[in-house]
Amino acid sequence: MEKIKYERPVIQKMNTGLMNKFGTRTEYEPVTHIESVPVKSLIKDYGSPLYVISEKQIRRNFQNATRIFKTRYPKVQFAWSYKTNYMKAVCNIFHQEGSWAEVVSGYEYEKALGNGVPGNKIIFNGPVKTDDELIKAIRNNSLIHIDNNDELFSLIRLSEEHNLKPRVAIRVNMDTGIYPKWDRFGFNFENGQAWNAITRIINTRNLEFVGLHCHIGTFMLAPSAYAIAATKLCELAWNIKEKYNKVIQYIDLGGGFPSSNTLKGAYLPGSDTVPSIDQFADAITDVILGYSFKQEDLPLLILETGRALIDDAGFLLGTVIASKRLSDGRRATVLDFGINNLFTSFWYDHKVSPAQAFGDYTEEMVLYGPLCMNIDIVRESITMPLLERGNHLVVHKIGAYNLTQWMQFITLRPNVVLIDVENNTHIIRKAETLEYIEALEEVPEHLKKFGV
Ligand SMILES: *Cc1c(COP(=O)(O)O)cnc(C)c1O
Repeated sequence: MEKIKYERPVIQKMNTGLMNKFGTRTEYEPVTHIESVPVKSLIKDYGSPLYVISEKQIRRNFQNATRIFKTRYPKVQFAWSYKTNYMKAVCNIFHQEGSWAEVVSGYEYEKALGNGVPGNKIIFNGPVKTDDELIKAIRNNSLIHIDNNDELFSLIRLSEEHNLKPRVAIRVNMDTGIYPKWDRFGFNFENGQAWNAITRIINTRNLEFVGLHCHIGTFMLAPSAYAIAATKLCELAWNIKEKYNKVIQYIDLGGGFPSSNTLKGAYLPGSDTVPSIDQFADAITDVILGYSFKQEDLPLLILETGRALIDDAGFLLGTVIASKRLSDGRRATVLDFGINNLFTSFWYDHKVSPAQAFGDYTEEMVLYGPLCMNIDIVRESITMPLLERGNHLVVHKIGAYNLTQWMQFITLRPNVVLIDVENNTHIIRKAETLEYIEALEEVPEHLKKFGV
């Protein structure tokens, strides 16, 4: 048996009120494997820190969400939200499962085309679309979701100039009982903007009005907000049929379902408090079915779910660099990954697990990243077994937004590895190099030489 390590005892002030229902101890088992691949060998083969994505978990999430919606409503289509995670391999898993693409910029639009998504299965959202981007999207028969009147006027002008007939929908914002209101995107429902835009589009011969869209927020915890959103879109669809005898092809309720991460400051872990996809599906489909659209008029239900389908398929592995005491006696553990790799640590208390066997003793500690910046804190306070230099850690549920909002700051971004359904590993994005980062830089002639 290995000799048990001696740790110098410290006297600490008791903090009451910080416990959750698990008591002070939050970790019972080390997480030694991702799927069935050892963390140790992943780090040995691909370096530390390391992003790991589970293909199996993505497919499981997608198939589960599809089943939940399709058993409740006959016409359902998912569109993968590119900004949530636009690694090509990740997008293509969703496309293989049948997802369309949902993009919010010309850059993301090009990515979707590059991945091979047919133009007519790309939903072009977002507040900014240039004339060139619009023309391209119109020629590709993509679904253009209009954000504002200026964009609508551009579309009318471009469709006339080029003799094209764009397929358009409008984004609608509304009061869903969640505050602050998300009213900066799209046309407002309550003040009549949305209805005016609809009337204008329907009276423009060159535009084909195909759908109604909303995206009411992100990490939404209230299924009732989706019921309100569905009601308001159905209300518009119903009135369009009544007043203009026109049938809307689809209703797109956007994304925003939460993952089971724990928001900062939450008393209970997210896995206990976050509503299930079933509850959101019930809220949405009960409303649409309640409108008793004629069978042939029943709108296609589009969902642009991002976070909820990818978060728990992503892991960040890392290594302990040092362990030290702060001036007040608190334990601090310095890691080789920080907020540059884990943007979502700004709003989540990510679950962090040791990746090797540990002792019984735990202590409250701060987890710092490697950046020479005071804000680089992965967890402000976490009760963990004692960690020492060289120990490995696994951060859970990091698949959403971290691989798009990551920062190339102070350090280079590491490898991203996919574990496929047969547990083979593939690099899906190589670790950055100095040459790669500097490839776009130029140094003017007069600054090339200096003597110090
Ligand atoms: C970001 C975004 C989504 C995805 O949101 P999630 O919160 O990741 O589900 C869907 N639709 C639009 C328009 C978005 O901007």
